[in-house]
Amino acid sequence: MSTYRIHGATSEWEVVIGLEVHAQVTSNAKLFSSASTAFGAEPNTQVSLIDAAMPGMLPVPNRECIRQAVRTGMAIDAQINRWSRFDRKNYFYADLPQGYQISQLYHPLVGEGSLMIEADEKAGIPEDKVIGIERIHVEQDAGKLMHDQHPTMSYVDLNRSGVALMEIVSRPDMTSPAEAGAYLRKLRAILRYVGSCDGNMEEGSMRADVNVSVRRPGEELGTRTETKNVNSVRFVMAAIEHEARRQVDVIEDGGSIVQETRLFDPGTGTTRSMRSKEDAHDYRYFPDPDLLPLELEEEFLDECRASLPELPDAKRRRYEQDLGLSPYNAAVLTAEVETARWFERLLGETAKAQDKQPADVAKQAANWLISDLFGALNKAGLELDNSPVTPEKGGELLALVGAGTISGSISKQVLETMIETGDNAAAIVDREGLKQESDTGAIEAKIDEVMAANPDKVAEYRGGKDKLFGFFVGQTMKAMQGKGNPQVVNELLKQKLG
Ligand code: ADP
Ligand code: MG
Repeated sequence: MSTYRIHGATSEWEVVIGLEVHAQVTSNAKLFSSASTAFGAEPNTQVSLIDAAMPGMLPVPNRECIRQAVRTGMAIDAQINRWSRFDRKNYFYADLPQGYQISQLYHPLVGEGSLMIEADEKAGIPEDKVIGIERIHVEQDAGKLMHDQHPTMSYVDLNRSGVALMEIVSRPDMTSPAEAGAYLRKLRAILRYVGSCDGNMEEGSMRADVNVSVRRPGEELGTRTETKNVNSVRFVMAAIEHEARRQVDVIEDGGSIVQETRLFDPGTGTTRSMRSKEDAHDYRYFPDPDLLPLELEEEFLDECRASLPELPDAKRRRYEQDLGLSPYNAAVLTAEVETARWFERLLGETAKAQDKQPADVAKQAANWLISDLFGALNKAGLELDNSPVTPEKGGELLALVGAGTISGSISKQVLETMIETGDNAAAIVDREGLKQESDTGAIEAKIDEVMAANPDKVAEYRGGKDKLFGFFVGQTMKAMQGKGNPQVVNELLKQKLG
């Protein structure tokens, strides 16, 4: 149970949140036409006669869009409806040439499903929680009005008109901004694993309508408001925060919440009213007479199911159980599909380079990727997908550590040079003379120097001040420019100090 509460003047309040996420389907062509969906094209260069709603044009469903929505439904364990139907949602707006949007109100393609958000103590999510998903339906996107191109005119860009969207409607199961944030991130991760949406919120491929209500603990659900088209996880959380507080203030001042549509202003972090329920459109929904109902065949469903990749929850479980990774590492590595793919290639290369089983090098590879590589890339202002260090080169570096050729601390230095130069680890180690020294004679000689230079510390140590051992390790390593084999250094120091 989430403990998120708003402290009002008269009482404590709970927040209830339901999200409607619009996700643009990854496909080359639009939902009912063959026009391109590529992002960033010149306005009105990707508009077929169908998208421009020329009279007499007939829509033809794009199989790939349906397939992606079905695969998404399967990924959230949802019921897939073998019979569904498109409806017309009628309204007038300048970005909608047809005068209606083709959507699915009565018989959506995907029914009841769910996803799990993971416990995150710091964010105030004490345990894993399942969030219900009511439905996913498929619909057309509208065009885009451009008001800032000319002082007295508005333009319309129809490139987006007719692009396929999935509307993913959650149950009102979230009770804090943190839970809503976790839900969005998890949904985005699943969409990207499945490959049905690129999840790019800046480009508008994923945006959320945020439904919020408040109530005193134990009460019935309160009246909700809906804040439209919020386009980042941070903004969704800020919109909830602000909207919940505003509702509490209204109610505590003796007012009541009216069901309305609101807009979020990222500049101020506040929401403002757009239209109330009284002004709500009457959409006059009815089945689209130009389209037959969608009937899915068993074979099609089988193919959709067979094409699904291993999903984040399953992958995370496998990393913990089969590879022995810590829950934290498993969560970090599976949170983004790119990270998981990179890790799996690294694991293969690391095992190969050391002639071992993946499970035997998984911890080494995971720790290196999460602390060393992420840290070094971050320092260099780079990301995994433009990393000059490939999984193969990473595997070679780890093999040098595994074989004792270089120490773990030297490997960090080698990694930084790899990022700067793109060279192989072995070449850098040779060139810079970074091989680890394991020769006992050479190490003993340095230990003797260190002991001779610190007779007082030696006496203190021998007199019982055990803590000084670390001092001798440090001094010996320093004398060896960090290249001493730590294990050998430790053993020899123990012998010599007695
Ligand atoms: P409508 O049919 O008016 O669109 P829905 O029942 O489909 O309403 O709900 C739309 C969204 O609002 C869903 O995501 C749902 O979870 C959420 N929702 C419904 N009631 C509430 C409420 N009282 N508080 C917060 N969210 C709610
Ligand atoms: Mg709805």
